[in-house]
Amino acid sequence: MNNKITAIIVSNQSYKEKDALIRMISEEGEVLSMIAKGANAPTSKYSAYLQPFNVCEIDYHHKDPLSVFISASLRQRCEFQDFHTLAAASFLLQSMEAINRMEPQTFPLWTCVQYLHILEKSMVSGLLKFCFDLFEKDGRQLVVDECVNCGSLQVSGFSLSAGGFCCKSCSVHERVDITDIDVLRALRCVSKAPLELTYKCTTSALSISVVKLFVYELKDSYPLAMKSWKFMDELV
Ligand SMILES: [Zn+2]
Repeated sequence: MNNKITAIIVSNQSYKEKDALIRMISEEGEVLSMIAKGANAPTSKYSAYLQPFNVCEIDYHHKDPLSVFISASLRQRCEFQDFHTLAAASFLLQSMEAINRMEPQTFPLWTCVQYLHILEKSMVSGLLKFCFDLFEKDGRQLVVDECVNCGSLQVSGFSLSAGGFCCKSCSVHERVDITDIDVLRALRCVSKAPLELTYKCTTSALSISVVKLFVYELKDSYPLAMKSWKFMDELV
């Protein structure tokens, strides 16, 4: 049976001598794997299309357990200005694929693409938005409007273990992770902003170490691509 889908390529691995094993995420957020015969041969017509971050329309032959790729046309591609952003994009897309495997339709194709575009504009706020999104999906909405314990608006820190902002007196009883007011402001901004405006929430104080805090808290609940994370982290 022949099928047509639009999907974003997550990975392209060599298989046997000249074939490629392609993993992708569909518009519905389903994860698909297929074998592309001859795609790694030097004469292959589709090799350039079947690369990570490309959005393609794909014709394939549905087969169990592994479908067979027939042809592709390019719909859209995401490009990254530097190696660091590319590494962050790999972490994000591979994590989304793994999460979709666990819970199908969590990150549909166009949500993935929207995230990748945010990374091009601001890597740190894009990654942070992804973390906020996961906390919410995990039923652990972080409180960034007021002190998580007493409701005071005079917040002075952020505590991951407490689940949000803390005021000065409640901070005494919590393990406070962040106290920089600019970073607190940025966290609130990222949390409230719609995905497409997240890149506006940047401040020079907002660094990858803030994202790291969130990622390490989430990695036990979600199958995040920690190998890609470490690779990216070592580039800093
Ligand atoms: Zn308080």
